[in-house]
Amino acid sequence: MPESGRRIVVHDEARPGWQAQLAAAIRDPRELCRRLNLDPGWLPGASTGHALFEVRVPEAYLARIRVNDPQDPLLRQVLPLAAESETPIGYVQDPLQEAEHTPRRGLIHKYASRVLLIASPACAINCRYCFRRHFPYQENAPSRAQWDDTLAYIRDDPSLNEVILSGGDPLASSDRQLAWLSQRLESIAHLKRLRIHTRLPVVIPDRVDASMLDWLSATRLQKVMVLHINHANEIDTAVVEACARLKQAGVTLLNQSVLLRGVNDSVSALSALSERLFEAGILPYYLHVLDPVTGAAHFDVTDEEARALVADLREVLPGFLMPRLVREVPGEASKTPL
Ligand code: SF4
Repeated sequence: MPESGRRIVVHDEARPGWQAQLAAAIRDPRELCRRLNLDPGWLPGASTGHALFEVRVPEAYLARIRVNDPQDPLLRQVLPLAAESETPIGYVQDPLQEAEHTPRRGLIHKYASRVLLIASPACAINCRYCFRRHFPYQENAPSRAQWDDTLAYIRDDPSLNEVILSGGDPLASSDRQLAWLSQRLESIAHLKRLRIHTRLPVVIPDRVDASMLDWLSATRLQKVMVLHINHANEIDTAVVEACARLKQAGVTLLNQSVLLRGVNDSVSALSALSERLFEAGILPYYLHVLDPVTGAAHFDVTDEEARALVADLREVLPGFLMPRLVREVPGEASKTPL
């Protein structure tokens, strides 16, 4: 019986599978503007931003964006702007200095007890504020032989108890590849947890299909999925159903958001997000301030504004729905609370 008695809805066979949906994602700013009936005045800026970091929006996400509304909070996350070509002081290509913490290709080891694997260079959606928008994925996409080297690094360090699959989006990999990796990881006795940082179940809920649930259910590792949702409107019925399937497979669901100007920088937007997350069985975990990556400065919310927002949010939400306001500081042993 599914948790909370909800009916578990599996992927509707009448719809294309997630890979076909991914392949059919919008990759042209003209098409994006046309489909959303945006004023043609948005196109030059969209083309400028697209030349720096390409547009990518799957249909399942597009369907949640209001037409004729350039201020829609979901559209703001995916519509390229001319402002992305600005280079303000303090904004850099690798704001977290991850290049300094890659002892093996595709492996980032910054924190005690856990390592992060770049399991896939691809994403289902290109978020304009992404701190990895300039990440050299091609230099960090390991082959099967290089995975052996990465796995040996993890096996040789008994202080590690958790592996985080990241990307890109790790769930953009095939289930065959992910099942292979999951089996290798669970054979390492000192590992306890598999954490997956992903946006795919939100962007294309059909990603959570029977094939994915098979390998997830099979592993002995405890499973934590950290979703990435910034606005309540991202959580439609299909996302709620995908979350129910994940919970039935024994996955703990958390969420991290980025505080983004014009998207969720208000008490009403943040409280609605927390409420909607909980309705979907997801606990709010982190609210990140923006990482200062070149091309994303127009999303910045100052620290003072962020602190004031969170103080006001505390007035309206119970403690368990309060995300922790944090910043990632290069070289620090953990996220830094603000
Ligand atoms: S890594 Fe995450 S935030 Fe960055 S573009 Fe991909 S899905 Fe968006």
